[in-house]
Amino acid sequence: MYPEELRDALKEMGEKPFRAGQIFSWLHKGARFSEMTNLSLALREKLAQNGIDQPVTIRETHVSKLDGTKKFLYALPDGNCVEGVLMRYHYGCTLCVSTQVGCRMGCRFCASTLDGCTRNLSAAEILGQVQCANSTLDGEKVHNIVLMGSGEPLDNYDEVVRFLRLVSHEEGLNIGLRHISLSTCGLVPQMKRFAEEKLPVTLSLSLHAPNDDIRQQLMPIAKRYTMEETLDACRYYIEKTGRRVVFEYALADGVNADEKCAEELAMRLRGMQCHVNLIPLNTVKERNLFGVSENQVRAFLSVLEKRHISATRRREMGDDIEGACGQLRKKVLQEEKP
Ligand code: SAH
Repeated sequence: MYPEELRDALKEMGEKPFRAGQIFSWLHKGARFSEMTNLSLALREKLAQNGIDQPVTIRETHVSKLDGTKKFLYALPDGNCVEGVLMRYHYGCTLCVSTQVGCRMGCRFCASTLDGCTRNLSAAEILGQVQCANSTLDGEKVHNIVLMGSGEPLDNYDEVVRFLRLVSHEEGLNIGLRHISLSTCGLVPQMKRFAEEKLPVTLSLSLHAPNDDIRQQLMPIAKRYTMEETLDACRYYIEKTGRRVVFEYALADGVNADEKCAEELAMRLRGMQCHVNLIPLNTVKERNLFGVSENQVRAFLSVLEKRHISATRRREMGDDIEGACGQLRKKVLQEEKP
C-alpha cells in the first residue's frame, strides 16, 4: 500500500491515521508486525490478523565460487517460488527481481517460460525480494535493481508500477528510479503507456534480432508487433523520458550472430539514442540453441562500433549457480516432481 492507502485502511480499522507513517517505514525496513515497538500491543496483533508482514522468504541461497554472485530461491505465501540474483559490481550491488511466477511470452531460449505463467506477483512480493536480498548483506544495501528475472514486467503492469513507486519512496527503501532497469520482450501498447508514467527508469528491450524474420523464430511476441512498431515504441519512450533505451541482444550461433546480422542491426538502430548489450546466449540444448564464442562476440561488437552504435558485451556472472533466468526454479520443480 501507498502511505495514503494505509492511512485509509487504518481509519477503517478505527485507528489513528498518523500510525500509517510509522507502519510504512517499519514495513519497508523489513520489520515484522511484532517488532513495531512504537505501536500498542493490541494494534500489532490486529495488524498481524489483517495483513502479511513478510510476503517473501529465502528458501535457498547459492553462492558462486567464481564471483560471489548469490542466487536466491524465494518462497511465496501460497507455496509458489521465484528466483533472484544478487551481483556485486564495483559501483554497488545489483539485484535482479522476478515479476511473475513463470512467464507466458514463450521466448524459445528462455527457461522461465517453459511451464507458462502461474500468476502475477504483487508489488509486495516484488518488494519483498529486495528486502530479502538486503537482509543477506552486511551493512551494504541493494543499490541497483533490474526487472530481468522471470516474468514479463509489462504483462503485470499495475503491480510493477506500484512496486517502482514504492521501492523509490522516500520513506521506504528510497532506491533511485535512475538505478532501476525494466526489461521487456516488447509489449508495444504497454511500452507507450509506461512512457507516459514519466518514471526515469531505464527501459531495456529484448531485441535479439536484426529483422522480423529472425525475431519471429525466437520470440512469439514478434508475430504480434513488428520490429518497426517496437522500435517506434522505443523512440516514443526516448522522446517522453529523455532517456536512452538499452537493447538486449543474446547471440545464438547460426541464428542471429553473424556479421551480416550485425550490419543489419546497425542500420536499423542508426540515429537512435540507444545502447546495445550483447550477451552470449545461455545454451538451451532442448531447443537446439547454442551460445557463441568470445571471437564471435568480438566480431559482432566491432561491426556495431564501426557503425557508431554504442555497444558493450555483458559480463556473465554466477555461471556455476544456474544464474540465468528460470534455471534454478526449473531444476527444483523437476526434483520435486514424483
Ligand atoms: N520478460 C522480460 C524480462 C525477463 S528476461 C524480457 O523479455 O525482457 C531477461 C533477459 O534475459 C531478456 O533479455 C531475455 O531475453 C534474456 N534471456 C532469457 N533467456 C536467455 C538465454 N537462454 N540466454 C541469454 N539471455 C536470455
